[in-house]
Amino acid sequence: MIDILTNGFLSSPIATNINLNYCSHGCSYCFANINYPKRKANLTEILRLLKGIERNKGKDLVSYYLANKYPLMVSNNIDPFSKSNYSLFNQIGTFLLELGVPMFIATRGGEGWQEWSEKLPKSIWYISVPYHDDAIRQRLEPNAPSLEYRFNMVKELIKKHKIIIGINPMNENYVKDPLLIIKQYEAIGVKNFVINPIHLSPKQQTNLTETQKDVIGRDILANCKNNKFTKEYLEIFIRCYKYIKLKGLILNFNETGEANNSMDIYNECYPTRLPTHQDFFNYLAKDSTPRQVTFKEYYDFFAPKLPDIVSNTSQFIFNKANIKDKSSYIATKITNVLHYYWEVLPEPIPSYTSTLSWIKKDFGTKVDFLRDKENNKIMWYDNTKENWNDYIFK
Ligand code: SF4
Repeated sequence: MIDILTNGFLSSPIATNINLNYCSHGCSYCFANINYPKRKANLTEILRLLKGIERNKGKDLVSYYLANKYPLMVSNNIDPFSKSNYSLFNQIGTFLLELGVPMFIATRGGEGWQEWSEKLPKSIWYISVPYHDDAIRQRLEPNAPSLEYRFNMVKELIKKHKIIIGINPMNENYVKDPLLIIKQYEAIGVKNFVINPIHLSPKQQTNLTETQKDVIGRDILANCKNNKFTKEYLEIFIRCYKYIKLKGLILNFNETGEANNSMDIYNECYPTRLPTHQDFFNYLAKDSTPRQVTFKEYYDFFAPKLPDIVSNTSQFIFNKANIKDKSSYIATKITNVLHYYWEVLPEPIPSYTSTLSWIKKDFGTKVDFLRDKENNKIMWYDNTKENWNDYIFK
């Protein structure tokens, strides 16, 4: 099916995602295969959706995004060039191309990528390269193309398209030194990288076979359950981050609150796209004076860039956190989600950025958050020094 890329709201410029058959590349840690081991694409339903996008664009968010040429992720859940999906993707992709829907391709390679490289206009291709040793790849991704194959594929793709290399999932047991991967791809002109740890929730882990658990690593799975970065992961990540900064390369999907140019390749490939927090951080950095940032400023930045459409917005919220307030289940404007991202979700911006913190104040009878006249918390922006604390006293 084609659905909203709900997990990426305000972090990814991509609006929608396509999900087809079980992915035969068979990566042992693949959350999509683990969640739905028997999934099968519903071609009739997808074609019905695509044929109706013009008619439904005023009332259905997926149709709105497709009709208005927002990019589609192909895909977070399948590899379009895997044996189990290629012929189906060929059919649906051709229709998407006729409709003018831009695509963001996520692949490890396989059948027919050369043909799609030719057919597509300049697009972003995200290639996963989580290892440097092909024997480890063979163990964890038994049916996916080899590392050498992926390297040669990128050498071809980069002549026309923009490339992001995903060291994803990154784990010190899978690759001791990810800098080897970064340097290898840097040498052929790749500038954008993603580094992400392995994510498998306790619920997803219950669907793993004993063999899969052994292949992924039982220690690694135990750490996933804690949902914490290990010391080893952080050390490697920081080493890579420093190298990437030093060499003028770009780390995508790493929202620290600082300005960066990770959105440039999206601007180059997709004239219409969703706004992101990274865009907001870039906007804030234009005035480097430490200052207050209100919800109104945040709202005024995002609202004009979001679709003016009424929808069930709960999907943007409950994918991030299970919160008690279920009022978003009513049909409402997407812009109403912004306040959840400002201060209702458990991990709002100050919890993960070095430039933004809540402001706390001594009011004489209590110490509390500083709020505006509509009772929204106020943030403090300072990009002159790092501050990873959630709040500061003013
Ligand atoms: S290639 Fe992607 S979708 Fe396919 S099994 Fe591997 S992780 Fe899953």
